[in-house]
Amino acid sequence: MPLLPHHRSRIDSLRAPSAQEPWRVLVSGCLAGWQCGVDGTDYGMGRGDGGLFSLPTLRLLPFCPEQHGMGTPRTMPDLHGGDGFDVLAGRARVLDEHGVDLTEPMIAGARAMLAFAEAERVELAMLTDMSAACGSQVISDGCRLVPVRRFQKGVGVATALLLDAGLAVVSQRDHASIARLRARLDPTYVVPEGLRDHHEHAWTLEHLPHAHPRADR
Ligand code: SF4
Repeated sequence: MPLLPHHRSRIDSLRAPSAQEPWRVLVSGCLAGWQCGVDGTDYGMGRGDGGLFSLPTLRLLPFCPEQHGMGTPRTMPDLHGGDGFDVLAGRARVLDEHGVDLTEPMIAGARAMLAFAEAERVELAMLTDMSAACGSQVISDGCRLVPVRRFQKGVGVATALLLDAGLAVVSQRDHASIARLRARLDPTYVVPEGLRDHHEHAWTLEHLPHAHPRADR
């Protein structure tokens, strides 16, 4: 069965977490409430974890690759000509809305995130989808600051490096996977019915019906 970036089989094979040995989880800074978005906010996402990040069985390890590479605030980086793996292979670039090439600082930020993950012996990453750095399921195809924004399935630059290093990456919109993870972190948690991951959402099925290009990596 093809594997998506969040690699269900790898998630299910994670060791049992405990308060003494919590899972070491790399999290996009903005998901953890860091004001590290391009506009100096957390995009309103810092309060959206529903208590997940406060569980004693989870050790939160936030990082923002774009802030590391370019500072905050900054212009809007987006992928042109492919996804994060294509950027690492030299087949695609990262440009901002003014056409300025941000490829090198995006790669530098991604490498710094991977170095942080390795230093902290991270076991799992929960990252912000749609980001040119942190995306894992759906990302912009070209500049997003246009009248009609285009999307593609694929991964961001930092996510590509993390996947190459063998980490599972779950997005904040992978509701089914996050619920399964939560049930392992908190045995009292009951997984609600009908949850879907981002590639199973109605919008994604309607607008991006083809397979994820990294599904069989
Ligand atoms: S690069 Fe990642 S952590 Fe930083 S603002 Fe964008 S999505 Fe959030």
